[in-house]
Amino acid sequence: MKLYNFLSRKKENFRPRRAKSVGFYTCGPTVYDFAHIGNFRAYIFEDILRRTLEYVGYRVKQVMNITDIDDKIIRRARAHRMPTVDFVKPYEEAFFNDLKKLNIKPAWKYPRATKHISEMITLISKLLKKGLAYEEGGSIYFDISKFERYGRLSRLKPKELKSGLRIDVDEYTKQNVRDFVLWKGKKPGEPSWKANFGKGPTLNAVEGRPGWHIECSAMSMKYLGKSFDIHGGGVDLIFPHHENEIAQSEGATGKPFVRFFVEGEHLLVDGKKMSKSLHNMFTLKDIERRGFDPLVFRYLVLNAHYRSRLNFTWKALEGAKNSLRRIRERMVILGRRAQKKTHKSFRKELMRRMEDDLDTPGALRVFWKHFDALSRDDIIWASQIFGLNLERWRVRAIPAGIKKLVKKREEFRGKKEWQKADKIRAQIKKLGWQVEDTAKGPVLKSA
Ligand code: AMP
Ligand code: ZN
Repeated sequence: MKLYNFLSRKKENFRPRRAKSVGFYTCGPTVYDFAHIGNFRAYIFEDILRRTLEYVGYRVKQVMNITDIDDKIIRRARAHRMPTVDFVKPYEEAFFNDLKKLNIKPAWKYPRATKHISEMITLISKLLKKGLAYEEGGSIYFDISKFERYGRLSRLKPKELKSGLRIDVDEYTKQNVRDFVLWKGKKPGEPSWKANFGKGPTLNAVEGRPGWHIECSAMSMKYLGKSFDIHGGGVDLIFPHHENEIAQSEGATGKPFVRFFVEGEHLLVDGKKMSKSLHNMFTLKDIERRGFDPLVFRYLVLNAHYRSRLNFTWKALEGAKNSLRRIRERMVILGRRAQKKTHKSFRKELMRRMEDDLDTPGALRVFWKHFDALSRDDIIWASQIFGLNLERWRVRAIPAGIKKLVKKREEFRGKKEWQKADKIRAQIKKLGWQVEDTAKGPVLKSA
C-alpha cells in the first residue's frame, strides 16, 4: 500500500514496524464547543485510512486524544462560571454521538489530557535533564536550538528560527517560530497541578498546567510506544503542533517518533478554511436540520481526495444525497433477489485505487462504472471500505397481504384493466409500499 508521507513529501510504500499491527495516533478534538464538519472531514479520512489498512490485513491500534484542558476551555468555562470538567462534558458527549452518526469506527483508546498529567510531567523532566528545556518565569520551555532536526517536518529555514525568544500560546504561525511552552506556570483562577520536576530549587514545585503539544507526545507514546507507525491530523497541525510533538518525543527518547505523518486538507467555505474563528462553520446538527442524513456528508467527503481542498456547498451536498439514494434504492431492489455473487475484478480495481494513497474519488469512479453489474454482496463489501453503512440498509420483509395485492394488480394489468390496477397500486402505497414496473416485472420498495 502507498501512502503520502509528509516527512519525505513523497508517496512511500507503507509497511508497519511489526508485521501485522499498525500503531496509529490521531489528534482529536478540543472540547470547548461543538466540532464542525471541517473537523469531521479529518476524522472521516482517518477512518478511511484505518478501514483500508484493516482490509489489507493489519490490526490497527488507533488512539485519539481528547483535549479537555487548554486556554480556550479555561476562558469559556470561566465565562460560564463553571469548572472546566463540567464545561467540556456536553461537547465531549456530542462529539462521540457525531462519530457514531458518521459511522466512524471507535478508536482503541480515547485518552484525556487531564488524566495524563503525570506522564507529561515525566516527559518534561526528561527534557530538562537532557538540557533541551529550561524554566523561565515559572513556566518551562523547549529550547529549539538544542534539537538539531527542529523544523524538518514543516520545512523551516534556519533563519526562521528565533530561539531564545519564547512563545506562551499554543497556536502560532511560522512568523513566530520560538521556544515553545511545555508547562505553563500557575495563574490565579486557572486549574493547575502540582509538579515536581526534580531539578534545582525553583523546579522542585512548579505548579501549573501542560501546554497543548506535550499532551500528544505523552499520550501517543504511552499507548503506542516510543516509535510508532502513523500519525494523522489536518494540515493546520503540521506547524507548530506536529513539529513540536516530534521535538519533544525524539528529544526525550532519542528514537524516531513516527514513520508516517499523514495530513488531510481542509474543508472550505467560499474558499476559506471552515473554522470557529471565521464564523463560517456548520455542525452535523445544522446538516441534519436541513434534512440530510449525516452519511450524505460522509459520501461528499469521499468524493474528494483527502489531500485536496474541498469546498463545501449545499448544492454539492444535494448531489451526494442523490448518489447515496441511488445506491440505497439499488440495495432494496437487489435485496429481493438475494443473489450472492462477487465481482472479483471490480473489487481488485477498487482496492487498487484505495491502496494508492487512499484515492477515494478514483474508487468511487470504479464503483459507478460497475454499478449495474454489482450484487448486493459487492455493494456491502464496498460500503465497508467507504463506511457508508449500507449493510444496515435491509429490505423489510414483504408481508403476504402485499404480495397478494401485487399479484391481483398483475392480473388486472394482464387484462388491461388499468383503472383497477391503479387503484390497487394506491392501496399498496397506503400500506407503505411502492410498486415499480420494470422490464422484469413489478418490483416493490418500501415507500
Ligand atoms: P481542532 O479541534 O481545531 O484541534 O481540530 C481537530 C482536527 O480537525 C484537526 O485534525 C484539524 O486539523 C482538523 N480541522 C480543523 N479545521 C478543519 C477544516 N476546515 N477542514 C478539515 N480539517 C480541519
Ligand atoms: Zn495532537
